[in-house]
Amino acid sequence: MREIQMVDLRAQYEKIGSEIDHAIKEVLLSTAFIKGPDVKLFEEELQEYMGVKHVVSCANGTDALYLAMMVLGLKPGDEVITTNFTFIATVEVVALLGLKPVIVDPEPGTFNISVEVVRKAITPKTKAIVPVHLFGQCAEMEGIMELAKKHDLFVIEDAAQATGADYLFKNGTTKKAGTIGHIGTTSFFPSKNLGCYGDGGALYTNDETLAGKLRSIANHGMKVRYQYDNIGVNSRLDTIQAALLRVKLKHLSKFNKARKEVADFYDEAFARCRSISVPERASYSSHIFHQYTIKVESNKRDELKKFLESKKIPSMVYYPAPLHVQKAYSYLGYNDNDFPVTTSLCKEVLSLPMHPDMEKDQLDYITTNVLEFFDKLS
Ligand SMILES: *Cc1c(COP(=O)(O)O)cnc(C)c1O
Repeated sequence: MREIQMVDLRAQYEKIGSEIDHAIKEVLLSTAFIKGPDVKLFEEELQEYMGVKHVVSCANGTDALYLAMMVLGLKPGDEVITTNFTFIATVEVVALLGLKPVIVDPEPGTFNISVEVVRKAITPKTKAIVPVHLFGQCAEMEGIMELAKKHDLFVIEDAAQATGADYLFKNGTTKKAGTIGHIGTTSFFPSKNLGCYGDGGALYTNDETLAGKLRSIANHGMKVRYQYDNIGVNSRLDTIQAALLRVKLKHLSKFNKARKEVADFYDEAFARCRSISVPERASYSSHIFHQYTIKVESNKRDELKKFLESKKIPSMVYYPAPLHVQKAYSYLGYNDNDFPVTTSLCKEVLSLPMHPDMEKDQLDYITTNVLEFFDKLS
């Protein structure tokens, strides 16, 4: 059996390596390393895949969030509501721009923020909501958009973990995660569902004015060469990364389908185990399983993790500590009582190996060992 990895980028490269090598070599020969033709072509192809009018590429997913908040003209002191159960980048950019992060508990089942919780956090100072589509499944966007409209708020979707997930509206239509809010952001960090071989990111919007301004801000605020209409930053997607992302985008649907098959296999194997909660699947979203995250009862999570380690099965805790206990964010003045859901999730969650190249013998081995751990306990 091949050694098990959380994400096996080597196995993926062994399958699509010749296409990747060719794409990279073409850029090397062209020497168009910054803003080469592949960048625009990738943006166009991603637009088509996402069903969105504009894709603006940038240097990473954190910058994408930062650029989104810059372009919307949010001012110091404005409140931005987001989840306590996410990667730090989501709240970091809010703080960096002098905005006030208002963090809320997610739902214990989907790990995403609910409309109800967001509604309660709205104040006269609220300017934006940042739903995060955690682990590959959309937050309840239809309700969040209605709420935002009512209170005249911007919605920035952090879709870094959900490239390719579909949101299902009540009228039966679907839209891709990240294309529903005013702006959506994503990351091409190597382990993401659509990952490059370094850092990369992008923004989605259907608003032409916002797209133009984002494009300018991401490139020093330039309008035409050496003429600056906006204060900007240097945040561009390298041509080499764009070239290989064009290759990977062609495989994305297949990769996401393979992840779902892995999740279905895990779900079925764990159905008989009462100590494990498998990931809840929301009725309003497809799930592309960026992570397959179980909840383990009765404080057995760390023991299970150690047991799996002894069997050479990697697993990860996303996320071990909530935002509100981090030293950098202590100034926000929150405590554990404000976040009962996040506090218990941090003790219960465990993400198992999940990638498109998992083999049947690996899955058998993982599920057998997980079940054996709980059988021995009872
Ligand atoms: C990965 C990630 C980011 C940041 O992306 P980078 O490209 O690493 O900067 C932001 N938000 C979420 C939810 C992420 O998972």
